[in-house]
Amino acid sequence: MSESLATVSYIGATILFVLSLGGLSHPETSRRGNLYGMIGMALAVLATIFGPRVTMAGIPWIVGAMVVGGGVGIYAARVVKMTQMPELVALMHSLVGLAACLVGFASYIDPSVQLAGAEKAIHEAEIYIGILIGAVTFSGSIIAFGKLSGKIGGKPLLLPARHWMNLLGLLVVIGFGYKFLNVHSVEEGMIPLIVMTVIALLFGIHMVMAIGGADMPVVVSMLNSYSGWAAAATGFMLNNDLLIVTGALVGSSGAILSYIMCKAMNRHFISVIAGGFGTSGGTVVVASGDAQPVGEAVPVSAVETAELLREAKNVIIVPGYGMAVAQAQHTVYEITKHLREKGVNVRFGIHPVAGRMPGHMNVLLAEAKVPYDIVMEMDELNEDFPDTDVAMVIGANDIVNPAAQDDPNSPIAGMPVLEVWKAKTSIVMKRSMASGYAGVDNPLFYKENNRMLFGDAKKMLDEVFVALKT
Ligand code: NDP
Repeated sequence: MSESLATVSYIGATILFVLSLGGLSHPETSRRGNLYGMIGMALAVLATIFGPRVTMAGIPWIVGAMVVGGGVGIYAARVVKMTQMPELVALMHSLVGLAACLVGFASYIDPSVQLAGAEKAIHEAEIYIGILIGAVTFSGSIIAFGKLSGKIGGKPLLLPARHWMNLLGLLVVIGFGYKFLNVHSVEEGMIPLIVMTVIALLFGIHMVMAIGGADMPVVVSMLNSYSGWAAAATGFMLNNDLLIVTGALVGSSGAILSYIMCKAMNRHFISVIAGGFGTSGGTVVVASGDAQPVGEAVPVSAVETAELLREAKNVIIVPGYGMAVAQAQHTVYEITKHLREKGVNVRFGIHPVAGRMPGHMNVLLAEAKVPYDIVMEMDELNEDFPDTDVAMVIGANDIVNPAAQDDPNSPIAGMPVLEVWKAKTSIVMKRSMASGYAGVDNPLFYKENNRMLFGDAKKMLDEVFVALKT
């Protein structure tokens, strides 16, 4: 393939990636967005393999790597459950970071690269920055994977003088960067490069370990952004324009998502990254889950729940992580359809950080074919709760916790929540009195107008559906 044909293919792939992002911004166009992305990626891979920069001898290596990588990808996509998706995504981000590091070291020791003067300095600066971003992304994503999968505890690790440590690390990285750009041989340059990589790896670990509980969504989207910048840095090192553009697209869309997440959680981006979660003035706040609950939680049966739903005119369903675990979305839809046929106004209230990844609930509800026009954002219907007869909370906890508004010492203080307790009756469907991801007790459970429907969400909803029909 000639250079110009490869360039045209790259431009075509870039346009398809932009269209893909545009399509993914709405559930109705998301399938098309996915398709554009797949075609764009296929075009990009083909143009790279058959492009002028790959020799015939290199093709078997690329094909071999694609078979191994593709095989692992297909296997993972088949066995990973929807609830494990965020962990898988975190793991994939780590691979992008690792690739940036490896490409950086390989470019540095590549004897075929003979540059001098400004060109050499720019190439080495690209390598240094590329490995820096790659290492932070790699170690940070591994820790995020651990936290999301529950292998590492959710509590923030708050080392004494951590901000000073971060600052010191940054100064050392800048100092070694200067040294790196002024060495006379590759051997000499390896020392500052390796020291910087170790510091960047430690920073990535420290950064994510210091974040806890409900602030994880911001970290996940931020690592998503970092992985984009790591890919862009790899593009600079390899002189590949498409990788630069694609990386920049992922990097900037991840940054926008992080900003949206921060706004949704009422947090400042910098304070999330630097401060750690569940902290107040630098000390860990004891989750009120350890305190004695006030009042008594009133259990309710599936039959009684059906009774309440049957009598209701306005119902708001608030799904959370537990709905994803129980895979209850299809039964939720059956119940919704039944109630709507009986003239009940049923809507869904979606919190921006419900579940374990951005858009988690929207994906599940779309899969169950719930009409998009009854799926509302938190801000769109929070003020409607006082006019709601039944607010049905399905496997959600942190996103409906009134302590976020009432208790300034709560680790989730300030986070906007769905005000389900303002409905005439709220019903919380979960298996026990256990806390949610943030590890905070939920005063909602003890409110006078709240009822607890204990059990697996799918099982209980099946029972509610049977009771509704009879
Ligand atoms: P939570 O984690 O707060 O609560 C989920 C609840 O579901 C649990 O209390 C659990 O209670 C219940 N549950 C679990 N399994 C089942 C089941 N089979 N049937 C019924 N109930 C079940 O989830 P929310 O969606 O309310 O909030 C999301 C949390 O996750 C927030 O803190 C958010 O910050 C965090 N997060 C979100 C990310 C995102 O991008 N969306 C990423 C990372 C973290 P029980 O055990 O008693 O059943």
